[in-house]
Amino acid sequence: MTRRPYLLAIDQGTTSTRAILFDSECSPQAAAQRELPQIFPNDGWVEHDPEAIWAATVEVCRRAMAEGGASAADIAAIGITNQRETTVVWERAGGRPIHNAIVWQDRRTAEVCRRLTADGHAETVSRKSGLVIDPYFSGTKIAWLLDNVTGARAAAEAGKLAFGTIDSFLLWRLTGGRVHATDATNASRTMAFNIHTQEWDDELLEMLRIPRAILPEVMDNVADFGTTEAGLLGGGITVGGMAGDQQAATVGQACFAPGMIKSTYGTGCFALLNTGDKAVASHNKLLTTVAYRMAGKTTYAVEGSIFVAGAAIQWLRDGLKVITSAPESEKLARSVADAGGVYMVPAFTGLGAPYWDPDARGALFGLTRDTGIAQVVRAALEAVCYQTRDLMRAMEDDGAARPMALRVDGGMVANDWLVQHLADILGLPVERPTVIETTAAGAAFLAGLKAGVFASLDDISARWKRDCRCEPKMEAAMRDRLYAGWQDAVRRVRCSAPPPQK
Ligand code: ADP
Repeated sequence: MTRRPYLLAIDQGTTSTRAILFDSECSPQAAAQRELPQIFPNDGWVEHDPEAIWAATVEVCRRAMAEGGASAADIAAIGITNQRETTVVWERAGGRPIHNAIVWQDRRTAEVCRRLTADGHAETVSRKSGLVIDPYFSGTKIAWLLDNVTGARAAAEAGKLAFGTIDSFLLWRLTGGRVHATDATNASRTMAFNIHTQEWDDELLEMLRIPRAILPEVMDNVADFGTTEAGLLGGGITVGGMAGDQQAATVGQACFAPGMIKSTYGTGCFALLNTGDKAVASHNKLLTTVAYRMAGKTTYAVEGSIFVAGAAIQWLRDGLKVITSAPESEKLARSVADAGGVYMVPAFTGLGAPYWDPDARGALFGLTRDTGIAQVVRAALEAVCYQTRDLMRAMEDDGAARPMALRVDGGMVANDWLVQHLADILGLPVERPTVIETTAAGAAFLAGLKAGVFASLDDISARWKRDCRCEPKMEAAMRDRLYAGWQDAVRRVRCSAPPPQK
């Protein structure tokens, strides 16, 4: 019997862990998902339990394989994609995490970042890592763990601890502790990795106070990452691809040519513009990042990161309880002609690109006696569109040519109203692919390249299929007027000075 070349993608996201079994055309055949509990120990702190992530990963892989009727021998390779920057430190002996994972959204290191900036490190960080100094990235989270868990710093210096982003932690566990590696995209989000030399950087490590002994090996996105322990999934399977979620989505959206751009709308929103073999430095606080590295050749991207997109809808559902499901937001947005002058700035954990203001907090503006739930919900969806326009404007200011279209994906783009409104606010066609699970598809594509299921990036481009294309319909004057209202709202939440210490 010939082996069916299935590809198994593990998509370890912020709010859930998924496994999707793809066939050799990269069409999903089976899927399993488990929600991930969010832990909020303090204002602006967000943690995950690494053991819960691990247990969910094994469970969803087994369920997806069972549902698709696939045994380990039917799977050509596994691809892993993950929430980026989220930081785990574990003991090399036994693999026990020393603390909960500190999630990318966590702001506990804002003060450390302020100090690094005040000490004049911003230029070096930007020049070498392509990033801005912000609690978002792993670097200051690692140091926090080493300084706040008893004995951790000494253990790290003695080579007894391992750091990894979630990809690295899962790979370690899947391979039974045999492989401590990450890939170039995940490494490029730590603030400790030099994106030009593609190596961990001693100057950055010293600035961040991170011992080298704790770091994983950095590999291409398509590589032999090791084989899973036979007992886990009913036989050893090669891990052939690994990438951070936004870079995996860039691959899943087949944005392989310079100038192509995708934006993913999940918990947060992340737009990546392919800049080819040039690492383009931004003057507008966008990030320069690794899009993917294959056969030792690095392709770069400029990235705009927004912390809250779908999370605002989650807050309306779970926090305020004004809607019972995320899709209900579409019905409510359509039920009114406009947001009635209401603007929501969802800066729950500060503002990301292009503002980078960790101390800003969210606000609702323009409330009147006739403001109802529909206007507030619509304002939450509109905020996603305005924030995307902020990013596109910053990219254009940086000299990027106006793209032909924006490719969108992620859980939120199931909302048809949102996709059309995005086209209207941007004044740009917006395209949605048939498979909106592009993050998982990207991981499967990477794994498939390693396993020889796909021969080239062209092979992958040929498999990208468009579901819809929304043309902008709003008049330019209206779009600009609405956007001016947003800019005014953002101005009002920004903090010029840090808040007083408690
Ligand atoms: P992540 O990978 O970050 O966990 P997903 O890509 O699964 O996120 O997207 C989930 C997010 O999308 C949630 O924040 C949810 O509130 C939002 N969402 C899902 N469906 C809709 C919808 N129809 N309209 C608006 N938001 C939605």
